[in-house]
Amino acid sequence: MSGGAKKSGVAARPTGPARHGTVIKTTGTACVVRTDAGEAVACQVKGSFRLRGLRTTNPVAVGDGVTLREAAQAGQPAYITAVDDRRNCIVRRASNLSKQSQVLAANLDQAALIYTIARPLTTTTFADRFLAAAEAYGVPVVIVFNKTDDLQTDEERNQLSYLQALYREVGYETVALSALSGEGVDRLAQLLRGRTTLLAGHSGVGKSTLLNRLVPGADARTAQVSDAHGTGTHTTTHSQLYELPEGGALIDIPGVKGFGSFEIAPEEVSHYFRDIFALSADCRFGNCTHTHEPGCAVLEALEAHRLAPSRYASYLSMMADFDEDKYRPAY
Ligand code: GDP
Ligand code: ZN
Repeated sequence: MSGGAKKSGVAARPTGPARHGTVIKTTGTACVVRTDAGEAVACQVKGSFRLRGLRTTNPVAVGDGVTLREAAQAGQPAYITAVDDRRNCIVRRASNLSKQSQVLAANLDQAALIYTIARPLTTTTFADRFLAAAEAYGVPVVIVFNKTDDLQTDEERNQLSYLQALYREVGYETVALSALSGEGVDRLAQLLRGRTTLLAGHSGVGKSTLLNRLVPGADARTAQVSDAHGTGTHTTTHSQLYELPEGGALIDIPGVKGFGSFEIAPEEVSHYFRDIFALSADCRFGNCTHTHEPGCAVLEALEAHRLAPSRYASYLSMMADFDEDKYRPAY
């Protein structure tokens, strides 16, 4: 018998001891895993691999905990042989007609919603919809007001104070900072320490600037080619997980503003608005929609200025989606 491995006809098979790690980058069927011992390993996903029940275009996503084994042949990428159960994940439907979806990131501890008062304007409707989606996913949110150095009028400055007070009252952590000057960034860094945080918000709000400041050498998106359509079946979205120097990580998904689509029933919408949900305990009817019913504690609070009009308007805007579309809306 001749020594050595067979050279043809047999694909390299996984071998060696199993190691555990976290996916930090994905590109098609290849990915990079940071092992628990701290080594970055290029991996490929085994062809036979299936995830329970999920029809996804990609079996592993950034943030996934995985088991890997080295290939038998030196120089070959390692294989991912198992994926840990996910605590949560962000999903994007591959296309409207397809039931397949793309998992963009997994196992988030929290999200940071980057919010700008102006240039670009982040609307309260956008923010509230994001907060509602996060609530549905069970992901806490830190609201990060960026570009505090660029508030140009009293109105803009007042708007910042108003919104900070409003969202604190509703129950969210907020931070105001300037990613450009660095002012306030330390306080955010404390909230990020030891946690895996999704960076969310409109394009232009300063996500990459903040990322580059928090993760020295991240060099985020400097050569980013923007995806003009964002919804195509063949969209390439490269999620990436950046490890923070003091522990924890930031997940950046270029071109994705927030959570993917999820199904929600009209009667559930109010559950995801913390302030409205708390008030609804005192509504006369258990199935109150908080739009016209007598004895509605939400409407009473609105009239008495104990509920912010912008929050109620966001609630109505989510409820209105059900009137316009016979399909369940996707947020
Ligand atoms: P992204 O699309 O969310 O990644 O936003 P970028 O990080 O690319 O920032 C968009 C623009 O806003 C760039 O011109 C940044 O220099 C600018 N920018 C980001 N943060 C700040 C800030 O705190 N203050 C000011 N004045 N500009 C900022
Ligand atoms: Zn009510």
